[in-house]
Amino acid sequence: MTGAGAAAGSTTVLGPATLVTGFREPRLVADGAVAWRDGRILSVGEASAVAAAHPDARRVEAHGGLVLPGLVNLHHHFYSSLGRGLDPGRPLSTFGEILDGLWWRLDRALDPETVRISAELALADCIRSGTTTVFDHHASPSFIRGSLELIAGAVERAGLSAVLCYEITDRNGHDGALAGLEENLEFFDRRRADPRVRGMLGLHAAFTVSDETLGAIAGRRVDGMGCHVHVAEDALDIRVSKLAHGAPPLERLDGYGLLDERTLAIHGVHLGRDDRGLLARRGAVLVHCPESNANNGVGRLDLDDAAADGCRIGLGTDGMSSSMLGALRAAFLGVRAGRRDPRRGFTVVPELLAVNAELAGRLLGEPLLGRIEPGAPADLCVLDQAPPTPVSAANLFAHLVYGGATTPVRHTVARGRLLLEDGRLTSLDPAAIVAEARRATPELWARFADLG
Ligand SMILES: [Zn+2]
Repeated sequence: MTGAGAAAGSTTVLGPATLVTGFREPRLVADGAVAWRDGRILSVGEASAVAAAHPDARRVEAHGGLVLPGLVNLHHHFYSSLGRGLDPGRPLSTFGEILDGLWWRLDRALDPETVRISAELALADCIRSGTTTVFDHHASPSFIRGSLELIAGAVERAGLSAVLCYEITDRNGHDGALAGLEENLEFFDRRRADPRVRGMLGLHAAFTVSDETLGAIAGRRVDGMGCHVHVAEDALDIRVSKLAHGAPPLERLDGYGLLDERTLAIHGVHLGRDDRGLLARRGAVLVHCPESNANNGVGRLDLDDAAADGCRIGLGTDGMSSSMLGALRAAFLGVRAGRRDPRRGFTVVPELLAVNAELAGRLLGEPLLGRIEPGAPADLCVLDQAPPTPVSAANLFAHLVYGGATTPVRHTVARGRLLLEDGRLTSLDPAAIVAEARRATPELWARFADLG
């Protein structure tokens, strides 16, 4: 077993392992194996039977580990990678100050090279944590045109699947907003039949997008183009939206036809019951980002309430990390801490990764994405050690939040390619990426300081 993938037409068998066939109504296969060829799963079953059916296959040893469908991240910001440790030079005491003093300065300081390096750092972390499909929400106002294609190139070199978009905003002027719209439209059109990397429409948040821009977006939006937008992350979003634009964010987005079953509404911390009901009626996915919400001190989305209002809820990392099992654990702990109730967390949270896979499958035209079954894409996350206690469909979620989230990933397989093999990245050179990051970051941070 060598390198990043088998030759076309050859079969690979991975096992023995405990296979988890999906995150919705999972079935577990003890002492199992999975076989794939040309990026698609051929068979799943008892290890000895799968091995016997494919005697000439290449073997990948899973050491009895837990094998999950490749994980999906519904909200990432690759562009934030080089912000780690950056001193904004002044106290940032409100959400508005965090945007203005940190993220909106960092994104303006980005150039093509730092956009690429940022993406590669995040993609390497995605592979290390078993994520095989990622939705990125990008901003680089000094380099808009061509930015998504540059990121797509990094995604392709990494070997992952992605849905990319550019954050349209009027915060750098209306021309900047229109340039963002053009970038989304061009990228969506160019990639609309691409099996691995597609586009959608990105909006920063309704409060930084004018009615004129929303009108232009509604007029140019193409059929089937999903919308990825921050909503009510902080009360600021609702306050400014009402003051500057005369209506709260969801009402404005809905008025321009931007809420449907392909919409990702990120955060939603400050949405009321009526808002959540509207999201539910439109079939939009509300994306929970628990680590980011805690980090920014913006409050907490109550998952039980949102689910009771009918919302479909997914999960993202919002640039805080690339670990979906880490985010799942944070969501779980957030429910218990927020409600001060140790009985909670086992109803809504286990659904999040299933919703992620279903939405990714819809936007990438892969209805079996997120399943380990014949015909599904061969996207797998193989955890490093065998579960030390009995595992079943009934207690799988406990294994993930109490064990999986802190267990290293041994192998990551994306469309049949081993991108992480025994803990080693095969498609990207992490040391080289870090060296580039260390070289380029001082100049980026100097540009950031000048924008203060
Ligand atoms: Zn975000």
